[in-house]
Parts: sequence; structure tokens; C-alpha cells
Amino acid sequence: MFGTNSAPILLIDPETEGSVVDANRKASEFYGYSREEFRKLHVWDINTLGRAVLPVMREISSWSGGHYPQRFRHRLADGTVRDVQVYAGPIDLVGQKLLLCVIQDITQVIEAEQFNRLLLESVNVGVCGIDNTGAFTFVNPEAVRAFGFLHESEVIKLGVHRFLDGAFQTTDGVVDRILHMATAGASAEGLDCLMRREDGTPFPVRLVASPIRVGDRVQGAVLSFNDLTREREREDQVADLIDAIPGVVFQAVMTPNGQLRVTYFNAAAKGFLGIADSDDPMSLEALSPLLTRADRVGVLRSLRRSASELQSWEREFQIRSGDTGKWLLGRARTRRQANGAVVFNGVLLDITDRKLLEARLEDDALTDPLTGLRNRRHFEIALKASEKLQSAAGRPYSLLVIDIDHFKQLNDRYGHGAGDDMLRHVADILRLRSRQTDCLARWGGEEFALLLPGTALALASALASDIRSAVAEARLVADGLTVSIGVGEVAHGEDAGALFRRVDAALYRAKENGRNRVELA
Ligand code: GH3
Ligand code: MG
Ligand code: MG
Repeated sequence: MFGTNSAPILLIDPETEGSVVDANRKASEFYGYSREEFRKLHVWDINTLGRAVLPVMREISSWSGGHYPQRFRHRLADGTVRDVQVYAGPIDLVGQKLLLCVIQDITQVIEAEQFNRLLLESVNVGVCGIDNTGAFTFVNPEAVRAFGFLHESEVIKLGVHRFLDGAFQTTDGVVDRILHMATAGASAEGLDCLMRREDGTPFPVRLVASPIRVGDRVQGAVLSFNDLTREREREDQVADLIDAIPGVVFQAVMTPNGQLRVTYFNAAAKGFLGIADSDDPMSLEALSPLLTRADRVGVLRSLRRSASELQSWEREFQIRSGDTGKWLLGRARTRRQANGAVVFNGVLLDITDRKLLEARLEDDALTDPLTGLRNRRHFEIALKASEKLQSAAGRPYSLLVIDIDHFKQLNDRYGHGAGDDMLRHVADILRLRSRQTDCLARWGGEEFALLLPGTALALASALASDIRSAVAEARLVADGLTVSIGVGEVAHGEDAGALFRRVDAALYRAKENGRNRVELA
């Protein structure tokens, strides 16, 4: 049995400084010494501890019964060193007390252990093992740090209970819950919960628990956790930044089939858009009552275009809000997700004030400041529009050009200020007699033009006569203020410039024929 055993076996005499008494064939194969060579060796020729191994050996030989495994490093005949596990125990051999040492080469096991240990030490994830009672079986350096200790040995003697908080601590079966979670695979995605440091301060983690199985039985669990403290701090800072933005910050997702859902609104959105808390997150349908009818289709279409071209989105649009409504500027970046949906990250800014100012400036640019009537620029735009409608749809229009008679003399006699008042009075008379759809403008110094869309010559000339007599009868100055008027209707195929020249010529005839007259073009 000794000779044919499949494990190397050495027989040692502890009393003779550990001389090797005998070795089996397997030992010769393993160490590279012949049986005769072995008999000349002492155990300290093989054990890397040297003579220091002797007291260990003597102690083992004093034990009664049982072979206790010891780890050593043994040097082979060729000088290489192997990790071995030695099962040594005292035996009586014909009255001689010897040590029987069964050798197991565990070099590869040790290498694997060292590799695993390196792995556990190098990850910046806390990893620890617990048994069924919650006692630690191992704790890696990151877990030691996260728990607020310096050395593994301080942690290993404590149970996992001490470091769990929140959701776990409210029930008594902390370990049962973890083990259940591990065996059910419930934490595969990671469970967000709190752990506690040694000084009691809680810290947020994402925890994953995996069962340690021996055969069919669960012997404990491996817990790995990411300390989320930094991540949460960053999230809080980003939230602060977002809340400081004077507008709405939003995130929306458009699915590949074009469905749009708002997945995030910052706190400001509630007051800004007047939506309820419960609406969050929401579909665009829930938001669309906020949009004006004109924008409802356009906004969605522009979002779809940005999504399909993966371009930034930018659009000005109006929403209903209070009595007046608001103008918003929407801006977002687009990003395609792995699932094909496009995410919009953006803002909605209130540009109502800017829009009102723009509208006012635009209005100013088209208004005559003295009379408040439209100016020549505006009139030309309106005239062009009428020309287009006429050539496209055959819609008629007529034109009046009205000029104050002998205004230069009136100015000279009554002064420029009084002249301005006369201009305003004439403007008022004209304004009273024009319709909303007409365009009434101060064309030049003391010359006015009135565009009458959809109006034929008969009506236009009647209006001209009415204006002429109204001005004359108003007796704006003692010795009379009158106007001369040219009036004409656009002819088939005639452009606006030609009509204007015709009407101007008619006005000239009115002057020639004595003033205070209407002449047809
Ligand atoms: P006619 O009957 O032939 O039109 O004679 P008129 O004097 O009205 O015509 P003319 O073109 O010779 O003179 C126009 C005058 O209108 C000259 C100018 O001083 C005056 N005028 C032009 N713009 C203004 C204005 O803004 N305020 C005042 N007070 N006068 C103006
Ligand atoms: Mg004139
Ligand atoms: Mg004049």
C-alpha cells in the first residue's frame, strides 16, 4: 500500500532531526530523488522553512490520532519549489515512533487562490461573502474602505447586520432576506439601498447578492456593492443646476413609430406650463391643449423631423397661459438610443417679452408716427398682396390717392404745428371711412392713399366723393381745407404700379380742374 499509493508519501523520524526514513514511488516521481537518495535526506532539505520546521514536526508527532493538513513549500531535486499540503500524523512502526506524511501538490490551487484574491483586491466594487448567519467569510479592500475600516481583520469578525440599513433593517430577517434575494436572483439588476459605515453614517449603494451553493444547499451569499455616494452628489449638483435655469428643462423620448412621451420635467415646469404633478411623465396629447391650434401640428412635425434626421430641434411657438398666452423658444439636442428611440434633452425658454418688443418694433416700422396711419412701406406691401390676389384669383381692388389742396399756403399762414394738426384731422376723417380690411396710409407729406381690396370702381368713387365732402364740410380752418382725389379700379392684367400711375394722373387732373374734386382714372 505504501509503495503503490497514488499520493507521494514520506516517512519521517522526528527524533533524528527529521531524517527521511522512507519514501514511496510516487514521492520519487514527484521530488525527483531515488529511494536511496531520500534516505540520506532530512525533512529540512526539502521544506523551505529549513530547520525551523523541526519544532512544528515534533508538535505534530505529539498529537494523538488524525492527520492534520499543513501548508508548506517543498523544494524538489531540481530546485523548483511547489506549494504542498501535508497530511502528517504519528504512527508506530515496530516500536519506532515515526511521522507519516501524505503530500498533496496544491501549487495550482494556491495560484488560483492568489489570482482570485488579486481580482477581489483590484476591483473598485465592495465584495464580501457571508454565511447563513450573516458572518463574514471574506471582505475585499474596497468593502473594508466603504465600511470605514483600515484592515480586513477588523471587519471579518463582525456580521453583515452591522452594515445594513434602510430597507433591510426594518425587518428582523436581514440575512434571510439577502439569501432569499440571492437564490431568487431578485437582485441581479442591483437593489438600491442604504448601508452604514462604522461610525453609523448611511451611504447609498447598489447591491447585488449571489448565492454560494455547496451541492444543493445555499451556504451563504456573495454581496457586491457600488458605493453611490459620489454619484448621488453629482446628481444633486446637476439637479441644483437644472433648477437654477429660468425655464423648463425637459427630456422626451420619441419611439421609432413616432410616439412622443415626456419623461422628465424640472420643478419649474409645473408653474411655467400650469400642469399638475400627476401628469408627469406624460404623452404629448396631454400637453397639446396648451399649444395654440396653429402650433399643434407644426411643433410635433418639427420634432419628428429632428428625430428622423437626428438634428437639434429649435422652434418658437405659442402656448395658452393665463389671458395673454406665452411665446416659448424650444431647443433640444437629439440622441439615438440602442433601442432606436430618439431622446430629446432640452429647454423651453419664455421669450414673450422679446416677441412683444419685436412686434412693437415691426409695427413702428410700418406706422406713420404723426397720424398713426400705415406708412408708405406698409402700403406697398399691401398693394403687392392685392396685386397677387388679383392675378391669381381675379379679385378686384380699387385705389384712392388723396392730396390736400394748397397745403403749402396753409402751412405758411398758420404755421407748421397747425399744419400737423390739420394732417391728423384729415387722417381721422379718412380712418372713420375706411374698413378693417382696407389699407389706409400716409403716402407722402400731405398725400394719403387708400387701398380697397375686393372693391369695384362704383363703390370706390362713392367713397371718394364722401371723403371729399366730409373734409370740405369739416371746416378745419377758417378759409377752408379741401382735398383732391384720384380714384381707379385695377384693370384686367394691370399691375399695381400701372394702376397707381393712372390714379396719380387722375389726381393731377383733379388739381388742374380746380381742386376739391374727385377724378376717375
Ligand atoms: P397742391 O394743392 O398743388 O397740392 O399744393 P400744395 O401746396 O398742397 O402742394 P405742395 O407739394 O407744393 O406743398 C406741400 C406742402 O406740404 C409742402 C410742405 O411744407 C407741406 N408738408 C409736407 N409734409 C408736412 C408735414 O409733415 N407737416 C406740415 N405741417 N407740412 C408738411
Ligand atoms: Mg402733394
Ligand atoms: Mg397738396
